[in-house]
Amino acid sequence: MVSTNTPPINTISYAESLDNSDNLSGFRERFYLPLHNGEPCVYFCGNSLGLQPKSLSTYVDKDLNQWKDLGVEGHFKSETPWLTAHKPLAPSIAKIVGALESEVVAMNTLTVNLHLMMVSFYRPKGKRFKILMEPGAFPSDQYAVESQVKFHGLDPKEAIITFEPKEGEEILDLEEMINTIQQHKDELALILMGGVNYYTGQYFPLKEITEAGHRAGALVGFDLAHAVGNVPLQLHNWNVDFAVWCTYKYLNSSPGGISGIFVHEKHGNNKDIPRFAGWWGHNEEERFLMKEGFIPMHGAEGWQLSNVPVLIMAAHKASLDIFDEAGMHRLIAKSRKLTGYLESLVELLNKEQDKIDISSITPKDIEARGCQLSLVLSIHGKLAFKYLSENGVVADWREPNVIRVAPVPLYNNFTDVFKFYRILKDAIENIS
Ligand SMILES: *Cc1c(COP(=O)(O)O)cnc(C)c1O
Repeated sequence: MVSTNTPPINTISYAESLDNSDNLSGFRERFYLPLHNGEPCVYFCGNSLGLQPKSLSTYVDKDLNQWKDLGVEGHFKSETPWLTAHKPLAPSIAKIVGALESEVVAMNTLTVNLHLMMVSFYRPKGKRFKILMEPGAFPSDQYAVESQVKFHGLDPKEAIITFEPKEGEEILDLEEMINTIQQHKDELALILMGGVNYYTGQYFPLKEITEAGHRAGALVGFDLAHAVGNVPLQLHNWNVDFAVWCTYKYLNSSPGGISGIFVHEKHGNNKDIPRFAGWWGHNEEERFLMKEGFIPMHGAEGWQLSNVPVLIMAAHKASLDIFDEAGMHRLIAKSRKLTGYLESLVELLNKEQDKIDISSITPKDIEARGCQLSLVLSIHGKLAFKYLSENGVVADWREPNVIRVAPVPLYNNFTDVFKFYRILKDAIENIS
């Protein structure tokens, strides 16, 4: 399909032609890009902290002004009454994770929500007490799970088991995962894993894992920190029991911002599920009667504890409105092209020089990854990372030897990817 007048892929004009035919290219203007020597950085770190939407301050200022003008009355008389400030966000969140509106709510922060969900959905009984996780789960998740296990008086060494990749591989194989689930089918209380692994970038087959988990009699929950706003999700249809995520990564909703939960409707209306309760989870019709006896709200809202943190909710809303406009379908289509372009340029760079071999531990299958590639250099990885950082690339180094790069479809473009290739090429020339 390459016509004679198509420039080679490792030229700026090729990258610019891709940008020109990108119908989402205008969204880049809606974000503040950090600068390096007066020029926008190649910001490939949206998997750690998304960028600030320019509209965000308007959203937050509105609530600051309402607070200034209305004081406590803002709870009722504000344009978006603070009492229910979480509700207008549910439709957008539901679209991003593939849920019913009543199955999601924004609240607390991620690790807090993971604990709340485990209180409800990790209920060890007799010999069914084990939790199956991915190997090398994000540390906070490991600590949360270990402490939950101990909280039940159990030994983490016995109760926590992990899927294992095949010898010499980083990526988990679906068939092996299903076998592992089957092997432990009488002992599994819960399968809890990431949606996209933060280190390898593998997007796990959530639907198949959920089905296999349910066949084994376990509940299945996911930490979607690296998946939400990044990959296609259908939590309701896949029958996932619960999920949690943060909103400061791909969802650009402010550092340490509000988190979100999903509770499948089959559990959401079950008042008997044990939970740690607070007044915001109580039936809202009676919340201010200050009566004894907790009656949970219908759906995910029944897991809320405290009244709504209005300012970070406003920040979240600013970003969600942009997601509504762009649409996950279009974002994912662009994301696959953008990351595919990055992958092609990295492969080309390997052929163009023989000093350092660059490989990716992220799956090549586009259905099994989001926008992140985890690159490994055969030598001088840390030096190359330093060179990239000093030359305007914002990426992320993970011990022992991975450079994570995440071109985000909302604000990154094909020219960013080309620049990354150029700078990495210079790095190799300069350090080896
Ligand atoms: C980013 C991330 C966290 C961070 O947890 P916080 O409670 O928001 O600090 C936890 N788990 C995973 C999988 C993450 O990717």
